[in-house]
Amino acid sequence: MSQPGIPAFGSTLTSLQAQNGAASASGSPYTNGPIQNALMSSQGYNSQLPGSYPHLIPAKTLNPVSGQSNYGGPQTVSPLSSYQGPGQTLHRPPVASTPVTSSLHSGPVPRMPQHTSHNSAAIPMPSGSFHPGANIPPPLNWQYNYPSAGSQTNDCPNVSSGPTMSGNTNLTSHQYVSSGDPSLQNNFIKSGITSSTNNGSLVVHNNYDEIEGGGFLATPQLTNKNPTISRSVGYSYPSLPPGYQNTTPPSTTGMPPSSLSYPSGPQAFSQMPLGANHLTASMSGLSLHPEGLRVINLLQERNMLPSTPLQPPVPNLHEDIQRLNCNPELFRCTLTSIPQTQALLNKAKLPLGLLLHPFKDLVQLPVVTSSTIVRCRSCRTYINPFVSFLDQRRWKCNLCYQVNDVPEEFMYNPLTRAYGEPHRRPEVQNATIEFMAPSEYMLRPPQPPVYLFVFDVSHNAVETGYLTSVCQSLLDNLDLLPGNTRTKIGFITFDSTIHFYSLQEGLSQPQMLIVSDIEDVFIPMPENLLVNLNESKELVQDLLKTLPQMFTKTLETQSALGPALQAAFKLMSPTGGRMSVFQTQLPTLGVGALKPREEPNQRSSAKEIHLMPSTDFYKKLALDCSGQQVAVDLFLLSGQYSDLASLGCISRYSAGSVYYYPSYHHQHNPVQVQKLQKELQRYLTRKIGFEAVMRIRCTKGLSIHTFHGNFFVRSTDLLSLPNVNPDAGYAVQMSVEENLMDTQLVSFQSALLYTSSKGERRIRVHTLCLPVVSTLNEVFLGADVQAISGLLANMAVDRSVTASLSDARDALVNAVIDSLSAYRSSVLSNHQPGLMVPFSLRLFPLFVLALLKQKSFQTGTNARLDERIFAMCQVKNQPLVHLMLTTHPNLYRVDNLSDEGALNINDRTIPQPPILQLSVEKLSRDGAFLMDAGSVLMLWVGKNCGQHFFSQVLGVQSYALIPQTMTDLPELDTPESARTVAFICWLREQRPFFPVLYVIRDESPMKANFLQNMVEDRTESALSYYEFLLHIQQQVNK
Ligand SMILES: [Zn+2]
Repeated sequence: MSQPGIPAFGSTLTSLQAQNGAASASGSPYTNGPIQNALMSSQGYNSQLPGSYPHLIPAKTLNPVSGQSNYGGPQTVSPLSSYQGPGQTLHRPPVASTPVTSSLHSGPVPRMPQHTSHNSAAIPMPSGSFHPGANIPPPLNWQYNYPSAGSQTNDCPNVSSGPTMSGNTNLTSHQYVSSGDPSLQNNFIKSGITSSTNNGSLVVHNNYDEIEGGGFLATPQLTNKNPTISRSVGYSYPSLPPGYQNTTPPSTTGMPPSSLSYPSGPQAFSQMPLGANHLTASMSGLSLHPEGLRVINLLQERNMLPSTPLQPPVPNLHEDIQRLNCNPELFRCTLTSIPQTQALLNKAKLPLGLLLHPFKDLVQLPVVTSSTIVRCRSCRTYINPFVSFLDQRRWKCNLCYQVNDVPEEFMYNPLTRAYGEPHRRPEVQNATIEFMAPSEYMLRPPQPPVYLFVFDVSHNAVETGYLTSVCQSLLDNLDLLPGNTRTKIGFITFDSTIHFYSLQEGLSQPQMLIVSDIEDVFIPMPENLLVNLNESKELVQDLLKTLPQMFTKTLETQSALGPALQAAFKLMSPTGGRMSVFQTQLPTLGVGALKPREEPNQRSSAKEIHLMPSTDFYKKLALDCSGQQVAVDLFLLSGQYSDLASLGCISRYSAGSVYYYPSYHHQHNPVQVQKLQKELQRYLTRKIGFEAVMRIRCTKGLSIHTFHGNFFVRSTDLLSLPNVNPDAGYAVQMSVEENLMDTQLVSFQSALLYTSSKGERRIRVHTLCLPVVSTLNEVFLGADVQAISGLLANMAVDRSVTASLSDARDALVNAVIDSLSAYRSSVLSNHQPGLMVPFSLRLFPLFVLALLKQKSFQTGTNARLDERIFAMCQVKNQPLVHLMLTTHPNLYRVDNLSDEGALNINDRTIPQPPILQLSVEKLSRDGAFLMDAGSVLMLWVGKNCGQHFFSQVLGVQSYALIPQTMTDLPELDTPESARTVAFICWLREQRPFFPVLYVIRDESPMKANFLQNMVEDRTESALSYYEFLLHIQQQVNK
């Protein structure tokens, strides 16, 4: 793209006009942006990382080893100590004829039906716009019954040992034990599994749907065709919106007369009046924050970036309700005021959706252990703070308006030990809560924690030296792996062959088993490859100490990743668990082999780049994994193109994650080594949930139609998550299916059912409540610009893949133009010149511009394809707060930190410097500036920065003495050092993964990365913020 400006507008002109009636085919009208600062032009934009290490290992032909294809001979098993290199071959052992292995080996690999392998996250959208209502494709509605390679679903080893029921978890939790015994060990599988014979093989129907509960959302087509019918429940109370019924005498029900001695009658009943005064009177509520009502001319007020981190808007609810609402870090909506009708939503041209971080680590989480989990009998919503109690014996669902009985057990409040206070139960006082699930929430005994590690040990992998780091990290954290006495662990390594390791208790050392038939992989000795960690810990430690040295002399350059994954899948199928795959190159052998398809001279183009997978092998295998409760995490450590677009599918559809360390090398790239070590520590020790499903429900009239994140969509709206981790985010899009005129409040509830590493089945529930509004102005006033930008980013990734990058970029720009045009034409009465925006959207153009310059969507740069794909994976899989920091980093001046306004946490004083605009205008050579870009911190030091900063903070005597690769600050005994170190530590503590720090001088190759994040500035291929505003204004005012 040669011209600066919004690229590719001309090429998609017709579709743009169709969408917004406003597009310009003229060339670049933007020549009047701010003059580039000399800092900007002092160095070209070179995205090379320092220490980038070209892995130019010449491809070697596979050196065939004798006997590789000779099966049926005797088994050759060599102990590790005598291993001399590749070449020892394991012939198919007799053990392969044991029932489990034979069924695994000889049976067909379970496959998804061809025509059904869609994830609705990849539904193509109409081109040119993301508008809600723009012909949203219907959700795919089909059921995936797991083909089972035998009866392994019922065949869970270690059942007899039973899960540890310590009741302790790695959460700081409050246990409310009311009554009942959560007898998790016994009484599994009541109705969960139905078996039938299909084509001669056992098919296990997965009934998580039944367990978690379907409800009306599972069959949306039945609910909203006839408003009269669909509202029949609500019409039982025609004159009263939800919440008003608190004062309704309990006369209309068939409930048994109360013979219990609890105080009755409305006078004793003090649930907060939901609905009655839920809205602060529309404008007066907002008038408390007059700033929020301002209309801003962005062309006049260019700096709208707050100097402190942007807070999410507070829904316009009565404070008693808002006090109980879900924390926006966990659950957030793009519009905190929900439009009453789809027509109103369409008019606003803003996307409606939810952003979730459902398994986030929490300091405080109420946990309820109760034999009865109270849920709506119609839609299966969990009782929550936003239901209304008609009286002490009945509650009305806030999602479907069904009136439900309050179970007897619920009358007792374990917190206060009082009877007759159902509305004070913890379930009704906490928008975020976790339940210990009784046995009916299980399809099978809770699975043990199972961890399988799959290591690339080809020559290329050995060259990077990663194995030493990973094995050491595993040794260091082995005792911290979440689990219990049932924890299992196993290892597979591969190059052109696949190597298994027998860790059977009683062996004097691990035994290596080599399988060289990669066309038809079988599992030797399946029972000794995944072993109990406690029982075989010494063997595991032996293996981890030996592994890094075992392959140092290898000449094997080929990579049979696909067959290794198949083997790993077979090994884990009986239990499920987590597979951690380390790969350093393009797979070259067997199924899933890939060909290079990156063309470096096309990197800068928005067209013709390969964002689609080149094979469906990884997706299909991921779906098989999902069916057997296996999630695959991919660690890609490669300086070469490795086709992450294809490889990444293995994690995306199995609910795993991708971690990427471009140019990893143990000597040449110490920063990546540090990053891998720190991230592995988090990865290995963080909380994990197994065999999870998540469902998101919303108030009747709203409908969820597209899901974003790493998972597989099962049965319309049930997300299958073989693993769930605390660092994963999700997003969904919604539409308004029926008008919500009878409703003042709507609610959203996510329920995550999972097995903890202690073997407990748990349900984590979050409920969010929002007001419904009837005017466009109110919709705009309640817009959450970060959530909107985050959802648009997710949609744009899909669009990039299904259409093209330029199409996605156009749609992002159109999202701004269309919504601000709607605001101008429908809300503003007098059309002033300028670019008028509601206060809530004052940062919308800036964030969208930042997205256009983000690695996922940028053009005109030398971004490597894998790096772009990784950035897209991050958009899909990160919680909103991290996505926003990656997109629009925070910039601080740090050479003059003071204690003024500092935070005081546990005797630590943490300076709080103001956030600066991302423009080189804000930099000066006599200062030092820290950029927090989420996963990386960059400290740029100006040449003329004061001597005291060099000596008191960096510990060097002059600018010239700053090391070329300085990646940490010394802890000096000076107040300046203490402040800077405290501030950086504090930033790092706020995110799960350790951001590495680069200290950058003018000559540093990282300077280009630092400057690339200056999103307000113009680059060779992208507009400055001011130019972008002018462009938006021109389109809006047409
Ligand atoms: Zn309900």
